[in-house]
Amino acid sequence: MIPYGRQDITQADIDAVVDVLRSDFLTQGPAVPRFEQAVAQRVGAPHAVAVNSATSALHLACLALDLQAGDLLWTVPNTFVASANCGRYCGADVDFVDIDPVSWNISVPALYEKLLVARRQGRLPKVLVAVHFAGQPTEQEDIWRLAQEFGFRVIEDASHAIGAARNGEPVGSCRWSDITVFSFHPVKIITSAEGGMATTRDAILAERMSLLRSHGITRDVKKFRNFGSNPPAWAYEQQQLGYNYRMTDLQAALGTSQLERLDSYVATRNAFALRYNDRLAHLPLNLPTVLPGNLSSFHLYVVRLQATATRPNRRELFERLRGKGVGVNLHYMPVHLQPYYRDLGFTPGQYPRAEQYADEAITLPLFAAMREAEQDVVIAALGEALS
Ligand SMILES: *Cc1c(COP(=O)(O)O)cnc(C)c1O
Repeated sequence: MIPYGRQDITQADIDAVVDVLRSDFLTQGPAVPRFEQAVAQRVGAPHAVAVNSATSALHLACLALDLQAGDLLWTVPNTFVASANCGRYCGADVDFVDIDPVSWNISVPALYEKLLVARRQGRLPKVLVAVHFAGQPTEQEDIWRLAQEFGFRVIEDASHAIGAARNGEPVGSCRWSDITVFSFHPVKIITSAEGGMATTRDAILAERMSLLRSHGITRDVKKFRNFGSNPPAWAYEQQQLGYNYRMTDLQAALGTSQLERLDSYVATRNAFALRYNDRLAHLPLNLPTVLPGNLSSFHLYVVRLQATATRPNRRELFERLRGKGVGVNLHYMPVHLQPYYRDLGFTPGQYPRAEQYADEAITLPLFAAMREAEQDVVIAALGEALS
């Protein structure tokens, strides 16, 4: 089966991990700050906090922004459940904004309309999680303008989008947001096996996230509350209820090594995407559109089936492709239709564009280590399955 995504591991990656295994620190050593600095520099943000997953980073981002029970977090239905669950971890209510029919990202007009209604009802969101779906940057400067106008905070879920840019601004610089979150799961652009990172321009948000990542414990003498000016050498203080969300040095070393190939990964993914665009153009499919000014990292290559009575429907097409060894997938079943969210009162029909998208979409294999011959198998299988 040709997978929809998979990691690319080189000898340099293996050497970097083995070096850590032979070193003094498997965790809480120097490899983690090194990885943080490398990502911060690459995306142009002054602060980066490494954690054990993007899910943890989203949780810490919500906590740093003081999201609480009774508050509201908005995101899109067309995302992985973690983009919404982070709000629930904090006891907040979650609501959704429908997607744009062209970019398949959050619809800025739909966001504006929903904000106007929310303001009238006195129920504005505290936090918006904007998702750069498939690696395509959102219209983030417009979202940021609305954040100023309506007074909410913004987290970019860039789990798909390290290496992407909008109008030359790298995703993760936080020019148009408070915090950006990356995932380093093996199917993503670069991997640390499991792992995530939050970047920000705000030193206070960075400090809150670092504290909460490790039990809420500080060893910073200047912050101590229980000790005077001459604390004993054993002193540490737990000042808040934090977690163990730490990244290991093994993961950080792998991530740092992978980051060196980020530009080539993004270039390769874009080349494969262009090749798909070219060779699938004659088929009854809607192909992805990259908005002007955007560099997509092409984490995913998604096509939408133009349904008719005579052609196979999406499920039939999906099963035919799997039957031919093509590991197609669906990103995403709408989050609000998951049983957990239905139990909270969400119903079909609430976000029609995300629901229609989910009825038509198929994710084709795309990964940096894919060979053209494998892509040709996918293209031929699609052609046959649709004829
Ligand atoms: C993968 C992903 C996550 C979660 O990432 P983990 O590192 O596996 O926790 C969150 N949001 C989106 C959009 C993702 O694709």
